[in-house]
Amino acid sequence: MIETGVSYFANGWLHHFERDLEDILAHHCTYLVHCFSENELIFARKRTETFFRKTRDVGIGCWANPWAVMGLFGGEQFSAFVPRNPDACQILSTGQRAPAACPSADETKAAMKLWIDMAIDFGADTLFWDEPHLYIPDWDDLHFASDDAFACFCPRCRASFQSRFGQPMPDKITAEMKIFREDLMVDFLTEMIGYAKDKGARNAITLLPVDDEANESLSWSRIADIRGLDIFGTDPYWFLHDKNCKEYVSLQMKRTMDICEPRGLTPHFWAQGFGIPSGREHELEAGFSLAVERGAKSIAVWGMHGNSAWDGASENPEVVWNVVGKTFGKLRSQ
Ligand SMILES: [Zn+2]
Repeated sequence: MIETGVSYFANGWLHHFERDLEDILAHHCTYLVHCFSENELIFARKRTETFFRKTRDVGIGCWANPWAVMGLFGGEQFSAFVPRNPDACQILSTGQRAPAACPSADETKAAMKLWIDMAIDFGADTLFWDEPHLYIPDWDDLHFASDDAFACFCPRCRASFQSRFGQPMPDKITAEMKIFREDLMVDFLTEMIGYAKDKGARNAITLLPVDDEANESLSWSRIADIRGLDIFGTDPYWFLHDKNCKEYVSLQMKRTMDICEPRGLTPHFWAQGFGIPSGREHELEAGFSLAVERGAKSIAVWGMHGNSAWDGASENPEVVWNVVGKTFGKLRSQ
């Protein structure tokens, strides 16, 4: 039977969480993706542990998402690590110090392992590596750098590039620079996913649904080969990217299945629950149904109640949430 999930954030009240858990169960969800950001890691450890325990106690899966942790994953959160570890940050091609950690820095790796230790100790059964990326300028709502800026020009990376390729780092994305940038994330994730696996956690990953040629792309096959990975997927948000639901989901599910089937990974699929225009809520049912038809075994929606706890809510959040619940129920009973 397929697994069905929803992301959870923007609430710290226990009584509210208990009501939300009932709501989530009533919408046929079998796992909850907790957004375990640096904020929770520092200020809300007890609360996080309680929320994780309550999640397991109602019999559903407990996933932990490093929400925007150190600027290396998807999510709307600032990093506490960045201003405290300036020497561990990415440097952009513009010379600016990016608000994101460099994956090659020892401080970054130590902080990520601290996050893994806590997520697992608090009771997460699955760690969810969400949209790992080097700094992407046009994702930054505060418009920190020009869209064509890219990382990483920190002293560690410059020295590493020089010794590997026998030349200084170029100021544009050459073939060597593309490999170098990809290796930064692949090496980092290999170490972290392996570390989490050895501690007994499952690992799930979502990569951006972009072409291999895109600057923010990571090689799907290289990531999928990482030891300790269990679940692999993508998030083809057709409303956000102004794509046709059927075409986009079909294309990205084909890519997902081509990666998962030979490796025995569980195929995973996210649909967008935020920013859905009025009158198009039914497309969620079509998208989820098509994803399952094409082989997805784990499907999830970003944001309960149409993401109305955050900017970017759907126009009719309750209609969206109803469609999600009915669709999850229908697909789980098949
Ligand atoms: Zn660097």
